[in-house]
Amino acid sequence: MSIRDLAPEHVRAIAPYVPGKPISETARELGIPERDIVKLASNENPLGPSPKAIAALAGAMADLALYPDGSGYELRRVIARKQSVSPENVVLGNGSNDVLELVARTFLGRNESAVYSQHGFVVYRLAVQALGAAHIEVPARQFGHDLEAILAAIRPNTKLVFLANPNNPTGTFLPWAEVERFVARVPDHTLVVIDEAYGEYLDPEIASPTSSWISRFPNLVVSRSLSKAYGLAGLRIGYGLANATAVELIDRVRQPFNVNHLAMVAACAALDDADFIARSRRENAAGLAQLQKGFEGLGLSFISSVANFITVKVGDAARLYGALLRRGVIVRPISAYGLPEHLRITVGTQAQNARFLSALAEALAER
Ligand SMILES: *Cc1c(COP(=O)(O)O)cnc(C)c1O
Repeated sequence: MSIRDLAPEHVRAIAPYVPGKPISETARELGIPERDIVKLASNENPLGPSPKAIAALAGAMADLALYPDGSGYELRRVIARKQSVSPENVVLGNGSNDVLELVARTFLGRNESAVYSQHGFVVYRLAVQALGAAHIEVPARQFGHDLEAILAAIRPNTKLVFLANPNNPTGTFLPWAEVERFVARVPDHTLVVIDEAYGEYLDPEIASPTSSWISRFPNLVVSRSLSKAYGLAGLRIGYGLANATAVELIDRVRQPFNVNHLAMVAACAALDDADFIARSRRENAAGLAQLQKGFEGLGLSFISSVANFITVKVGDAARLYGALLRRGVIVRPISAYGLPEHLRITVGTQAQNARFLSALAEALAER
């Protein structure tokens, strides 16, 4: 008997998450210094972390021998104030991935199912598979969510629907009014998780209104991340907003110290740094325009994006990925998302985008 046989069938069926290739690994493989490598593969903020977060961290080091505040009192108050909800509506996660997984572990049983879109974030599938529950993938519409088809896919045993807006890896966006009508039509026995990891990148005119829906829809969970615009991916911090009863249930499943002290201190400071978010959004918009113009110049089609990445059709994406890597530029292949001819490019600084575009032109010309 092999140790493999000890794991249940649904665990053996899991295809592990493949993250963006790390800079250090690429530098080792190419034998070039890390500073010569550009990574546009994990939707990280090219401006780095919020300076306010860095300053706050310096003052927190002396507390590292102590366990963090397991209730997350301070940070939940900061989030509640910012989102105009009560602290009882806030659950903290070790990254928003943790929130997604906690929601699944709290509400999804083995003989139940979860629904999400084709080209949806792979963590949804992983969270569902790990529980041995069924996953129902609904065909996308123009690379985005088909809300009517998602509603039609909900079964009597469907406990969860995952919906990212904007979506990763396609960058597509659904107007909030459509999402609101959708949430209102989802049956009471099904929770809707709206994943807003890229919410800060939306123009103010289309900023998310979902925190104000929490009081109206007891079956709604909103998840947000500090990994993207706030630039804190390395600390792992995210949060969920939901009805107080749902939060209380999730808290039963949550590890008592799931979020570390530094992450909470940095998050409190970063959430207060509106200037940094405004600058990140401005630079991102300029970078998106720069990349789109570059793609048009190369005759490539792309999926219009409102996030901090853009997905471009390059044909043989596996070859192009390798050719870019040899030029020190890491991007993200997304064949695992059913898009074998596309690459996902994180918006970098102006200089990084330019370096990527010239490497792309060379790679396309190479045969
Ligand atoms: C990046 C991302 C997350 C955030 O992950 P963290 O765990 O907060 O780093 C969540 N959902 C989607 C769709 C993402 O792209």
